Amino acid sequence: AVNPGRTILASNIAKTFIDEIQNKVLNVKKIKPEGPLLVGFLSNDDPAAEMYANWTKKTCESMGIRYELRRIDDSDFLEEAIIEANRDDDVNGIMVYFPVFGNAQDQYLQQVVAKEKDVEGLNHLYYQNLYHNVRYLDANKKLKSILPCTPLAIIKILEYLKIYNSLLVEGNRLYGKKIVVVNRSEIVGRPLAALLANDGAIVYSVDVNNIQKFTRGEGLKFTKHQVEDLGNFSNSLLKDISGEADVIITGVPSETYKFPTEYIKDGAVCINFSSSKNFEDSVKEIASLYVPSTGKVTISMLLRNMFRLMENVEITK
Ligand code: NAD
Repeated sequence: AVNPGRTILASNIAKTFIDEIQNKVLNVKKIKPEGPLLVGFLSNDDPAAEMYANWTKKTCESMGIRYELRRIDDSDFLEEAIIEANRDDDVNGIMVYFPVFGNAQDQYLQQVVAKEKDVEGLNHLYYQNLYHNVRYLDANKKLKSILPCTPLAIIKILEYLKIYNSLLVEGNRLYGKKIVVVNRSEIVGRPLAALLANDGAIVYSVDVNNIQKFTRGEGLKFTKHQVEDLGNFSNSLLKDISGEADVIITGVPSETYKFPTEYIKDGAVCINFSSSKNFEDSVKEIASLYVPSTGKVTISMLLRNMFRLMENVEITK
């Protein structure tokens, strides 16, 4: 039988950002003919990071952006290398492939990247703005805040898939939608749940320990999201919340983890951002739209963030 749903590839979604980014490159070249420079720091031997770095390089070069991968074999020298790039006026954007140390030292390193060059949007200030639903960096609302690029990529994917309803006012375009997010990391899952709730969705945030519900509260009364504990993780609770969900987003970093297809509502939208395949092939028989990976959209968001940072630097000059 032919599946009624469709698989949508991240590469196709990413294409919709090419024109926007290319126009920005042309503008930058008027004042900087050699074009913008993005620097990536690789200090681990993770093949997923290596692949991601290669895609980033290819994408950059196809658009006239310079990309330099700096390999730091001894991680103890990474901090210094980042500081050097912070000081270098030629460098417009900096990213680090994590994990490096795989512990709290990685969070420290994230904050070493100058916030003016932090294309991944990992600076504490950006996260705090996100959680507090603050969209500008200044009182005059001239400098837009930066969003962490993976949560941002997922928002852009949901817009592309028309889960965001453009007939509703901005800030409420997910009203009526129920979304499950299986991952609550500080990098992706928790900020994503907050962003979706800030836009009006009811979000069920799942991690190994428990399940939480993120909402914006009644109507438009609250300016930022609210969190409620629903209980410890159990398959029966996961089944209950998933049965009602319009969208299921997974990000479990494990090759063996599979989201149970039988929990998915007919016609739900399924998105996986983990580098492992979190859905079984049978998802295609149930989902209306299935997005198997998101990395290529994340790269577009890195570049979008880089131009926003460069615009902010120009405005404050
Ligand atoms: P992490 O290890 O920090 O977090 C994993 C999360 O998954 C945690 O909240 C954990 O509790 C939850 N989890 C693990 N097993 C679970 C289970 N059986 N049931 C429910 N929840 C479970 O990882 P991370 O940094 O958030 O990255 C997750 C994945 O996303 C990785 O594969 C990473 O490569 C990928 N990633 C992709 C992009 C992208 O652009 N596509 C960006 C960043 C990370």
